[in-house]
Amino acid sequence: MKTITLAHGNGGQENNELITQVFYGAFKNDILSKSEDAAVIEDGKLAFSTDSFTVSPIFFNGADIGKLAICGTCNDLAMMGAKPKYLTCSVIIEEGFSVSDLEKIVSSMKSELEKNGVIVVSGDTKVVPKGAVDKIFINTTGIGEILYKGISSNSISMDDLILVSRDIGAHGATIFAAREGMDLTTSLKSDCNSLYPQVKALIDANIKITALRDATRGGVSAVLNEWAKQSNVCIEIEEEKIPVCDEVNGICELLGFEALSLANEGTFVLAIAKDDAQKALEVLQSFEEAKNASIIGKVTQEYAQKVVLHSQWGTKRFLDVPTGELLPRIC
Ligand code: MG
Repeated sequence: MKTITLAHGNGGQENNELITQVFYGAFKNDILSKSEDAAVIEDGKLAFSTDSFTVSPIFFNGADIGKLAICGTCNDLAMMGAKPKYLTCSVIIEEGFSVSDLEKIVSSMKSELEKNGVIVVSGDTKVVPKGAVDKIFINTTGIGEILYKGISSNSISMDDLILVSRDIGAHGATIFAAREGMDLTTSLKSDCNSLYPQVKALIDANIKITALRDATRGGVSAVLNEWAKQSNVCIEIEEEKIPVCDEVNGICELLGFEALSLANEGTFVLAIAKDDAQKALEVLQSFEEAKNASIIGKVTQEYAQKVVLHSQWGTKRFLDVPTGELLPRIC
């Protein structure tokens, strides 16, 4: 590894190698090593997470970079069973950027903050010469209060079932379609959404939650592979149980993508205690955006640290960690 390539930001294999070799090497500590969606600090009371947003185009069907910047960080907190409380917001703006576009972005941030009941308490604004960034990059960092303790991607076992909260791949497919100038009069739009309300409902229903992870870069494939490794288990999923909408299927067929590897921004994967899986499914399905939630698989010891995809015809294959760079600047 001599220079950084776009694949180093893919949320998959090369991204993991870069993080492990360069950052974990220098920053290593017990909290960071857990590799959770958010750091759990202060004796399990608080969750703490950061994320930067560079999506292109900045406005797309279903959301924009502002909504994404709030959802992204709040969702990582929610994935640790936390209620998002305080956010910071840093923006890097390119000289010449339109003030009315900036106002549109900030207004979508405002409405998403309200949905999460979170406030921005600190911020920073930098303006750089034309060409030094492309339009606008945003970083948000957040602190949340953990309402449900013990959620961890390191403790998934054969007592759990695997669920997905809605149809997958919509964000990745939408960004791809926008970049390619494909017809956007279809109903294809990003799933970008705040997940805290769904997590809160699961907690309120007394569901036994083992692990939660939003399936962003690298998609559901990346999440399941990370879980199989972190918990040292095999995860077996049924292809026909995985919800994919017609528009996403169409784009995948046209371009040879796999929906399981496409990014999502308002879709999460759940490991739920077997006895509670059906109830969790009902709680999710009570939300309009999660009406296609599904139990997609189980945890076994069949192949250590591997993910197995069973087709409806009875064949099976390993589902690998995504490699290469499908779509840079997806989020
Ligand atoms: Mg995440």
